[in-house]
Amino acid sequence: MMIRGWFRSQSLHRKLLLTNLLATALAFLLGLLIISLGVWQEGHQRAELDGLTRARVIADNSAAGLMFQDKDSVAATLDVLRVDGRVLFAAVYDRDGKLFVGLGASQPAIEPPGKLAMTAAEARFSGGYLDVWAPVSIKGESSGMLLIREDMSALYLHIARLVGIVLLSSLISGGLATLLVYRMLQRVISPLSGLSLLMQQVSQKGDYSSRAEVSSRDEVGELAESFNLMLDQIERNNIALSCELNQRRDAEIKLDRLAHYDNVTQLTNRHYFEHRLHTLLREMSTRGERAALMFIDLDNFKDVNDTYGHHIGDQLLRTVGARMAQSLRSEDEVSRLGGDEFAVLLTRISELAQVEVVASKILKLIAQPVFIEGHEIFVGVSIGTVMLPDDTIDFNCALRYADMAMYHAKHLGRNNHQFYRRELSEEQGQRLLLESNLRRALERDEFEVFFQPIHSLAEGRALLGAEALIRWRHPELGLVPPADFIPMAEESGLIVRIGEWVLRTACQEAMRWQGVGASGKYFVAVNLSPCQLADAELIARVKSALSDSGLPPELLELELTESVLADQSEGSVQKLIQTAEMGVQLVLDDFGTGYSSLSYLKHFPITKLKIDRSFVSELPDDLDDRSICEAIVGLSKSLQVTVLAEGIETLEQAELLQRIGCQEAQGFYFNRPMPAEAFRQLLGQDGNG
Ligand code: C2E
Ligand code: MG
Ligand code: MG
Repeated sequence: MMIRGWFRSQSLHRKLLLTNLLATALAFLLGLLIISLGVWQEGHQRAELDGLTRARVIADNSAAGLMFQDKDSVAATLDVLRVDGRVLFAAVYDRDGKLFVGLGASQPAIEPPGKLAMTAAEARFSGGYLDVWAPVSIKGESSGMLLIREDMSALYLHIARLVGIVLLSSLISGGLATLLVYRMLQRVISPLSGLSLLMQQVSQKGDYSSRAEVSSRDEVGELAESFNLMLDQIERNNIALSCELNQRRDAEIKLDRLAHYDNVTQLTNRHYFEHRLHTLLREMSTRGERAALMFIDLDNFKDVNDTYGHHIGDQLLRTVGARMAQSLRSEDEVSRLGGDEFAVLLTRISELAQVEVVASKILKLIAQPVFIEGHEIFVGVSIGTVMLPDDTIDFNCALRYADMAMYHAKHLGRNNHQFYRRELSEEQGQRLLLESNLRRALERDEFEVFFQPIHSLAEGRALLGAEALIRWRHPELGLVPPADFIPMAEESGLIVRIGEWVLRTACQEAMRWQGVGASGKYFVAVNLSPCQLADAELIARVKSALSDSGLPPELLELELTESVLADQSEGSVQKLIQTAEMGVQLVLDDFGTGYSSLSYLKHFPITKLKIDRSFVSELPDDLDDRSICEAIVGLSKSLQVTVLAEGIETLEQAELLQRIGCQEAQGFYFNRPMPAEAFRQLLGQDGNG
């Protein structure tokens, strides 16, 4: 068992060599045995034959001497044997078995046992001798016996020498044969070993480009060829597979980029950022690390977009994004959340000063002018930072607080950085939040313009036009009335942009009313906030709204509040005069509620007075309100301007106002403010009616 185990563990080369050696040795041994036996037998046979023949001749020659008891004659006959060195001795015995004549030094002490009666010669081998007995007889009558003892050692020596020679030649030829076999095996086995080694390498390294050397045309060569074919096949499959894997990986990378990166700036996107913040907050509780979340908003990005177009706006975003990234350490992350909003996550923060440094770096870098296609563009950013986990560890709170801090920064004059503080009270927070929502509302298209019809109070109550009233369709709060956000929009300066949007939308919508309905000519009244009047671009904006929509200027009314009249600055007066010169009608809204001196009225090119709702609501019972309304109607007549009463809710109010000479009316009694679509339908009915 052990030998078998050992044999199995040997290499093929050694196994074959050993087998061959064993087979050769066995063949030689067998051959040697056969040869030795043959030589042995032949030697004995020849010795026996020779011995018998010679014994017979000597016996015949000695017969007469024995008969005549002539010892000399017998001795002379035996003497012939002296020349043969092998003959140890020879003797002739008489009929009684007594030695008659002997030759040789040592006389055999052999009694011829019962040989006297023998008739034929016989030979016997024993103890390295050959004893040949032959009867000595005359005419068939035995007179004695002859013994010749021969030494057989010469024969044995001969055989031994022969065996020696055969053994030697066997060894030499065996050695040569083994050498030959060894070489042969090497030739056969080494390609096999090469193949086996190659297979090991291929399977270990997975390198299917290796090939086996085909060095012969025998079975081993065929094996190498088939092995190469197999490798070809595997390599082809492997290439196809890795191609497919590469394609799949590319697709995955692309999808990953789409899912996690912003197309414009190549920064990570909101999706990625939220995921990152979630993970960070989760890990924070276990690791005890500190981090800062910055919300960064570009100041006046919309202006850039509107002035130079989106194409340049995108390039600006890219530059700004790159500058932010440049201000950060490698472990920090900047993402574009959308529009002009960015977020930065600073991890492993030990003190607030580190955040300050990063923020001022960002502010400084971004304040540098950006050159795009020959334009030199200046932008600033407002940064709000919330410290994690100091301020909060809640995901939504973190976002809200950062947003609040950012709007606080905007409020404090833009292009600055503010940390979130608890003092930013909940109320302030709400306000800031609403403001932040308000900013986005324009970009997200959440505003809508409603139209409230304005009628003539003359017979027939003809439809004259409508007042454009803004509505905010907030995704969570629903329809927000203007009173809830206009003051904030004015405070933050957002009203300029919002107002412009209302103006353009209203003009475009009013253009669709023309040529339909009963009169085919309807005006639209747009409210103008004091901030808009302060805007240097007002005239240009009005002009562009008119020219872009095609609405004739006389069909546009701009409603101003009395507070406007208190501002007697040259610029404002000039702007109003210019507007009036364009043909646009100027209306004094909410008349009677302000503090302006009536004398100012004559300085402004006002064409209509709108009696405030507060003087109408108690009509017809409140006599004071009735007097006020009569006074306003009288004033408008003397100033030669149209007078309109707003907030009419009942038939009585309408009739009374008509009676006292009010020309136009607006109120829930006639219609509530309605979406543009509804107003168009109303116009259609107006045409039919
Ligand atoms: P306003 O210019 O005096 O507009 C008339 C307001 O009176 C509207 O309120 C209208 O819905 C409401 N109203 C009309 N008839 C009646 C009635 O019979 N009864 C009662 N109770 N109310 C009536 P709204 O739409 O909520 O607007 C409020 C104010 O917000 C407006 O007062 C105006 O000052 C301001 N506003 C609205 N849209 C804009 C805008 O686009 N730009 C600016 N700057 N201000 C706007
Ligand atoms: Mg108004
Ligand atoms: Mg009003």
